[in-house]
Amino acid sequence: MKNKRTFKENIKMLIRGYRLVFKIYRRSIFWSIFTNIVGTLSPYFSLYMSALVIDELAYSRDAKRLLLLAGISVIGHFLLNLAKRIIQGRANVYGSDTWRRDMYFYMETQNKMQYDHLENPDVVILREKIYAAKNATGAGMQVLLWEISQVFRSLINIILSVSLTVSMFKIVENREYEGFFAFINSPYSILVVIALIFLNTIVSIKTTNAQSQKIRKAYEDLAESNSLFGFLLNFGEDITIFNMRKQIMSEYNKKLRRPSYVFKDRAYSIKYGSIRMIWDFVMTAILFIFVAAKAYIGVFGIGNFVLYRGTVAKFITAVSDLADIWGLFVQNNETMERVFEFLDLPDDMYHGTLSVEKRDDIDYEIEFRDVSFKYPRSDVWALRHVNMKIKIGDRMAIVGMNGSGKTTFIKLLCRLYDPTEGKILLNGIDITRYKYDEYMKIFSVVFQDYKLFSFSIAENVAAELNYDREKVISCLERVGLGKRIHELERGIETPLHRDYENDGIDISGGEAQKVAIARALYKDAPFIILDEPTAALDPIAEAEIYSQFNEIVENKTAIYISHRLSSCRFCNNIVVFDHGTIVQQGGHEELIADEKGKYHELWHAQAQYYTEKNA
Ligand code: ADP
Repeated sequence: MKNKRTFKENIKMLIRGYRLVFKIYRRSIFWSIFTNIVGTLSPYFSLYMSALVIDELAYSRDAKRLLLLAGISVIGHFLLNLAKRIIQGRANVYGSDTWRRDMYFYMETQNKMQYDHLENPDVVILREKIYAAKNATGAGMQVLLWEISQVFRSLINIILSVSLTVSMFKIVENREYEGFFAFINSPYSILVVIALIFLNTIVSIKTTNAQSQKIRKAYEDLAESNSLFGFLLNFGEDITIFNMRKQIMSEYNKKLRRPSYVFKDRAYSIKYGSIRMIWDFVMTAILFIFVAAKAYIGVFGIGNFVLYRGTVAKFITAVSDLADIWGLFVQNNETMERVFEFLDLPDDMYHGTLSVEKRDDIDYEIEFRDVSFKYPRSDVWALRHVNMKIKIGDRMAIVGMNGSGKTTFIKLLCRLYDPTEGKILLNGIDITRYKYDEYMKIFSVVFQDYKLFSFSIAENVAAELNYDREKVISCLERVGLGKRIHELERGIETPLHRDYENDGIDISGGEAQKVAIARALYKDAPFIILDEPTAALDPIAEAEIYSQFNEIVENKTAIYISHRLSSCRFCNNIVVFDHGTIVQQGGHEELIADEKGKYHELWHAQAQYYTEKNA
């Protein structure tokens, strides 16, 4: 664990952190500082007024003045408390919203991130670590937010206590003292008090928060293994069938090991806790003696004795609180460093400025010109020297074995990644030169691992909150779900799944695919792509869905992807991928005629599945 940042680096990170926090939680910060100012003032007011009342009682004993002072004291106290309560109410309202704001901020950041970060396991673990630290101890921006009021409180305490206490150091000039009292009345005693306060600060820094630092570290370690094992445990059936529980649990234990530092930690906190307690006691005793001795030799009266005792104690607490906070900030910078790393993930995708022309005749042509691609952090070419043109109205099929590069081709086409070499052109212009959002709008894809959410059917289809009812219904009818939806009591408003609503419905795998396809239709993009969303179906059912779909898409350009050749037989343009390259292209009859070709080989290898019905 890096804990060797310089003071300057820590301060720099704090400033950057607070800039961010001010941006996100402006209101809660305002109210929490305001509450603290009022809250901090009120004990000083009481202390100050008590000193005046005691002096009055001890010396002049003027009943009228005494009554006035008591009145001011009581009413002032009441008003200050009332103000504090009212402001606190507001502060609580905004304060309770900070967790949501924090989450919202991270989600928004992630939504804006370029796609390859989302697929990068390092980024996923980084994010999980930030969340884990945040959920465990509020580390990260929340600590900064919570501590800001404490910083203010301590600073106000220091200013007020110092300004009320300076007169305590007054030295009586015209009297001679001996021994201890001579020392008390000399500037040396002041030096000793200052030295003690300085020592106190150092002890506070040294003993601070070692424990919470370790706990945070333990939670972060957990985050890493949790994201790994959360993934493993999703495959419940396999674990049961193959009896893999032992294997998984032993792996889990290995990864997590026994958190011995938790035990060490206890010894740690007892050791430092007691040092701190004894030190506090000694410090308070010495200062008490100092103030008492000064009062005794007549530097100030009883009233001020009460006042100074209070203010000195407040000063000491404030200084040691500030030291504690500094320790906490230094630790928190561990998490902040991750937060900044997450926020600073580079957006190195080029964003062009050209508008994608909206054409009524949807006349778009796409060309792959000698495109090669390697995934980030991989040395293997997933695509190599791919050349092809996709023309408007095409019915194109991309076939090939699993791992031959079909999905990668689609990811490049939709600009989730940019080619490592070569270019992709839309109507003759490099796609990177178009505005990213506009380019995205011309594609509609149903991926193999498409996701439906626990929203209403309509919201799933429209992928937006304000949807066009007629259009949703028409898309559902086109994929053959019209009757099913009609039978539902709440129609297209029926929620999917039961995560949030009890009357949600669970639909079959086949129906889910149809909803996903309806979503692709609703987007009404000129290019529509089916990337094996039907892989879970049998080859014949897949072939049926694909050919039905072919009628639904009308004049759009459709691209079908499958590792089953039979599903794409109807396409006029079949592209065969093998090991990331295009090995054949043409119509079914033409391709099958080439007996040495990959298509012929695959077709015959797969023929057993559908000879009776399709071949
Ligand atoms: P297909 O869709 O034809 O099954 P893919 O396009 O998914 O094939 O995969 C092509 C190659 O790229 C495979 O070797 C696969 O292992 C690799 N690959 C796919 N996705 C990633 C990724 N996110 N990171 C690294 N390699 C990947």
